[in-house]
Amino acid sequence: MKLHEYQARDILAQNGVAVTRGSVASTPAEARRIAEELGGKVVVKAQIHAGGRGKGRLVSASETAAMYQALTTDAANNSGQVRGARVGGVRLADSAAEAEAAAAAILGKYLVSIQTGHEGKLVKNVLVAEQADIAKEYYLSIIVDGTVGGHLIIASAEGGQEIEAVAATNPDAIIRMPVNPVSGWQPYVGRTLAQRLGLAGDQGDQVAKLAQGLYKAALATDASLVEINPLALLADGRVAAVDAKLTIDDNAIYRHKDLEALRDKDEEDPLEVMAQDLGVANFIKLDGNIGCVVNGAGLAMATMDTIKLAGGEPANFLDIGTVNDPQRVVSALKVILEDPSVKAILVNIFGGMARVDIIAQGVVDAHRQMKIDVPVVVRLIGTNLAEGEKLIEESKLPLIRATGLAEAAKKAVQAANHAA
Ligand code: GDP
Ligand code: MN
Repeated sequence: MKLHEYQARDILAQNGVAVTRGSVASTPAEARRIAEELGGKVVVKAQIHAGGRGKGRLVSASETAAMYQALTTDAANNSGQVRGARVGGVRLADSAAEAEAAAAAILGKYLVSIQTGHEGKLVKNVLVAEQADIAKEYYLSIIVDGTVGGHLIIASAEGGQEIEAVAATNPDAIIRMPVNPVSGWQPYVGRTLAQRLGLAGDQGDQVAKLAQGLYKAALATDASLVEINPLALLADGRVAAVDAKLTIDDNAIYRHKDLEALRDKDEEDPLEVMAQDLGVANFIKLDGNIGCVVNGAGLAMATMDTIKLAGGEPANFLDIGTVNDPQRVVSALKVILEDPSVKAILVNIFGGMARVDIIAQGVVDAHRQMKIDVPVVVRLIGTNLAEGEKLIEESKLPLIRATGLAEAAKKAVQAANHAA
């Protein structure tokens, strides 16, 4: 689960990370009031679940696809603004009136950046924060990294908006420091980090403290990612987070009832939200036209591979889990049928602990409860296969049957192509 910048910076501040002052506004008038409180000189920032806002563009709903095309294909379009921005989703304002105008220009528009996809993101809120007088921009993040088996600090003195470019062209400028999960944070970690970033004395101390706060925040929220870009050295010598990103591991959300309220479902894929609400937890929307109902993540991956091998494209990843509940199958089909790009469905079930007859009952129930007008290919194997076969036979439903996975994938691709 991703958080908005204004939510992430509050959590970071609670854990001892220095952030600039600011608050969130949903109307231009509110933005003006906050700017007045902050003394007028502020930055007004679109709050969406995507980065690259500074270099993004604000458009109406009908213009997002063309703008995304322009931003992603033409480098010239993507070198627009950096500092002192008066366009895009991050704008500097030197008075409360300018802040109000900036908020009016951003709110209610769609922000398109190289990270939003062609649909862009509707901006519902802006963060109004004290304008930082930035002397130098750094990059600092902490991720949970599988290869080091724990938290990994990633930092660079070449921060700012082009960190991906730094990683590609000058990988030596990227500092990578694992945090030992047994000893946890030790003072030397912060000192070493500061030194490698080239910050000494008081600034070194500030960075060390800030990084420790970032680690504390990551632990406290079960974050898979906390990122500050830019981490700014200000003209007055302070070091502060000027941007903040925080992603909570979805598998840990149940431990954070207090953070659940921070979820913004508008930012998530509507089908994925629907799947979660229906208890079909492992659903990821993809771009193809063959809907997949599978049990087990490994089998789901294999099913998608086999569809691709047969020349097709899966419309989703879906693992209904090891359940003996026909309703789960009905719910899965319900979510898939909401996707207008689905032209065929492949149900691929291996009955291990799950029972084929119960899954088959789910397929039959779904056809009785909903109008299913796309072809459904069913491949079942394993526990209680005979009972399952019998249910499907007796239902007289026009299901396309297959015994092997390759055969099932081929039939699904044929059915989808025929329907398309
Ligand atoms: P992002 O583009 O979505 O990563 O949004 P950021 O919050 O990182 O803002 C983009 C860029 O705008 C930053 O890299 C800074 O260069 C600049 N920026 C953001 N806030 C301020 C500020 O308070 N003062 C100044 N001078 N520049 C800022
Ligand atoms: Mn940023």
